[in-house]
Amino acid sequence: MGLYREVFATQRKLSRDIPDQLPHIEGGQVSLRIEQGKLLVEPDELKVDLAVLKRIMRELVGVMEKKSDKPMEEMETFVAEELEDEKKLSGTVDAFLERDEEEFSRLVGGYSLDPELLYMLLHISLAPFMWKNASALVRKADLDQVPQGKCPVCGDLPIMGFLRPEDGLRVLECSLCGSRWGFPRIMCPFCKTVEQGDLKYIFADGDDSRRVYLCDKCKKYIKISTPMGEKDDEFVLPLEDLATAHLDLAAEERGYERGCRTVFS
Ligand SMILES: [Zn+2]
Ligand SMILES: [Zn+2]
Repeated sequence: MGLYREVFATQRKLSRDIPDQLPHIEGGQVSLRIEQGKLLVEPDELKVDLAVLKRIMRELVGVMEKKSDKPMEEMETFVAEELEDEKKLSGTVDAFLERDEEEFSRLVGGYSLDPELLYMLLHISLAPFMWKNASALVRKADLDQVPQGKCPVCGDLPIMGFLRPEDGLRVLECSLCGSRWGFPRIMCPFCKTVEQGDLKYIFADGDDSRRVYLCDKCKKYIKISTPMGEKDDEFVLPLEDLATAHLDLAAEERGYERGCRTVFS
């Protein structure tokens, strides 16, 4: 959790270095894209300034090194040498954003960092670019228009969700860009089944404000919490995700798989 807080503070600080951009689509296009199931920010529409990205990656590596008790020689090599190859970096970023897993693994294999670590580093370093790009569009958009299992803004999977206290709407939050959107309570976000017989939830230690929804159709699960007293914009889901790691274990023990790849846990 300490690592998460420091990463988040660093992301916030560095996002100020990312130049402001005019939205790449106009008002009418925003709802049209949502209706058609297209993303508000398609992978090729995200402008990533490599000089700024390298700066963000360097600082975040510094944060991770500080928090790690193991010596991290690969990190040093990565930052000092490998990060300088902008052509390779740019290809890796494109493969990440396009979710081209084959190309991504091929390129990541050419770095000395552990692939999981590099994935996490790219994820947390690209997120500020996505925030910057998405925020202007999200204000104009009705993201609840069509039930979407993936983020209507960037296409990433939800990290988890919460029940909005004022109206009971189930709100999911994107693991990459942090956008939030409403999603039906009785539907699996991953396979969209509404078969009641396939959907159930479990909770631990009598605390039913934190639940795991299990789907027997696709065998995936999503965690949904109810904020206790906090306003929903103060409810930090990546922290709630870490605080509910015991629920991930409970779901995995029962043979279910997390719908979205984890970044910190
Ligand atoms: Zn997103
Ligand atoms: Zn499902």
